[in-house]
Amino acid sequence: MRLRMTSLITAGAVAVAGLLAPPATAGAAGADGVLVRTIADSPVPVERVRVHAGSRTPVEIDPAAAAGIASGTRVRLRGGTVTPLSSGGASAFGITGTHHVTVVPVYWATTSVPSGQPTTAQLKTSAQALDGYWNAATAGKIRVAVAKVTAWKKIASPASGRCVDIDALETAAKRISGSIGTSGRDHLIIYFPQVSGCGWSGLATLGAGMSGDMVMWLNGSSHLQTIGHEFGHNLGLRHSNGAACYNNAAHQVQVPLSLHCDVVGYDDEYDIMGSRATGYLSAVHLGELGLLPSSASRRLVKTSTVTLAPVSARSGLRQVVVPMGRRTYHLEYRTAVGLDAGVDDEYGPGAGVIVRYIDLSLNVPYENWGETQLVTFSPASERVALAAGESWSGLGMSFAVKAASSTGATVTITQPADVTAPTVNPKPRAVLRTGTVSTTVVPVQVQWGLRDTHEITGLQLARRLGGSTAAPSFVKLATWERGRAVTATANRSNTWLIKATDEVGNTGVTSGAATKVTLNKRPSKTYKGKWKTAKAASYLGGSEQVTKAKNASARFTVTTRSIGWIATKDKTRGKAAVYIDGKKVATINLYKSSRKTKQLVFTRSWSKPGKHTITIVNLSKKTVGVDGLVHLS
Ligand SMILES: [Zn+2]
Repeated sequence: MRLRMTSLITAGAVAVAGLLAPPATAGAAGADGVLVRTIADSPVPVERVRVHAGSRTPVEIDPAAAAGIASGTRVRLRGGTVTPLSSGGASAFGITGTHHVTVVPVYWATTSVPSGQPTTAQLKTSAQALDGYWNAATAGKIRVAVAKVTAWKKIASPASGRCVDIDALETAAKRISGSIGTSGRDHLIIYFPQVSGCGWSGLATLGAGMSGDMVMWLNGSSHLQTIGHEFGHNLGLRHSNGAACYNNAAHQVQVPLSLHCDVVGYDDEYDIMGSRATGYLSAVHLGELGLLPSSASRRLVKTSTVTLAPVSARSGLRQVVVPMGRRTYHLEYRTAVGLDAGVDDEYGPGAGVIVRYIDLSLNVPYENWGETQLVTFSPASERVALAAGESWSGLGMSFAVKAASSTGATVTITQPADVTAPTVNPKPRAVLRTGTVSTTVVPVQVQWGLRDTHEITGLQLARRLGGSTAAPSFVKLATWERGRAVTATANRSNTWLIKATDEVGNTGVTSGAATKVTLNKRPSKTYKGKWKTAKAASYLGGSEQVTKAKNASARFTVTTRSIGWIATKDKTRGKAAVYIDGKKVATINLYKSSRKTKQLVFTRSWSKPGKHTITIVNLSKKTVGVDGLVHLS
């Protein structure tokens, strides 16, 4: 059986509840501050996102609201939404080079330093061990120097419930250490005698903290397993987990790999971000640190045979990425050398080809991309890796290790052939949008949906006009776009086409339904109250129906799926209410300091065509006009 490394997490009482303060909601008034992500290494790790604004109590925010924002970034908080104000965070600096750590040991519950605590010399040795590990794990790209270790110092109690207030600890430690620098490679390690109520042995900022430096809180633990792991969090790395997969949704029989899998926290004994004190970083983590050149990782989208170099090698292909549905599988090869020398020992996790996956259907707070799950290919014997001659097949794919030596493993990866072009559903369809119209051109938004088992690598949009035989002229889009503001030609049939290509090379063109754009200049015989005809060449049809009478109304009934009201805006104009099918849906202010005619000021769309009535009611004694209506079939 494998040795379960438990030094990372505090055995015994688990006070996750003490760690999880109820999330505060951002004040409506809003505040600017620094977004800080922290991760606590309790049995169930707890990731928190907080915004520190001056001396105020930090505001805890929903990780989903902060997705994609790096820790250490200045943000604006307003009504629960978070907007970055700078590109800050550690990512603004390079992480390669020499990192400096300052170690500050503190205590508070006793009159003198409690017995059994490490000396400052021992803490220095622990911090120096960071260099031994990270230098070897990154081939010298990340070095660690100990800037200083301050003397043990008694501080005011930062106790909070059963645990500690990490902000109070940070403030107290910085009072002792002084500023530690904000180069993006400066770390503060706060060491304190164990508080068992915390439930975590280490806690770290996931990237930069509130002052641009990176912070680790060590709860009575200075093992490399804890300190090296927290350092990895400071670099932005998340966890290397295990996967426990079952034959069915009822979890009856454990199998190597299926779609019914549980995350087993930290259960990756190859990687310091899992449960191993040493061992090379996974190729996934090397990639996240920018330390895996593009030639060292290959994405496979069709059946292939490749030779993987050991992950410890400094050249060659060290990772294969196989996308399948909502998961990407990451293959790498481990041999018993260097940091992995003990991999084949009695308690080692075993040499061979190992597979991790990232499951995109797992949700925040773990933000998918950083969290990996390690596959155990022989659940009964807890053997993780595939050795030469071994294979696994299922889920429509297979991994077979044909040969393995100290220099490489030859692996055949089969996967179902993707011969299908991306599916465009819903098909491209236009709806009206506000903007300026002319007698020939109307602003519209074209929208569509897109799906494929692989990534979309090419996306283009074109339009065909009714009666035209010319080849459509495609415009390149970003592959993530699912809508675009364009114009349609009035009183013609417009058809939009989407051309999409997947990463396997399948391309398809999908056309939407033809959309007739009907531009009705100054519709007549539908007005109530006092209206008159104003004439000017700048109006759509040379004239506009206008009223200054309060409550005067114009009412039109059209069979359509998108309708728009065209009017003039200027400083003499007032407000109007818009009713759709008898229900008030908007108030439109036509006031504008500089005159603008032919404005599509209101639009409304439906999923299907139907008979709808639009009523415009003057709310003021100022002018409100109807220059025209536009509607789409
Ligand atoms: Zn951790």
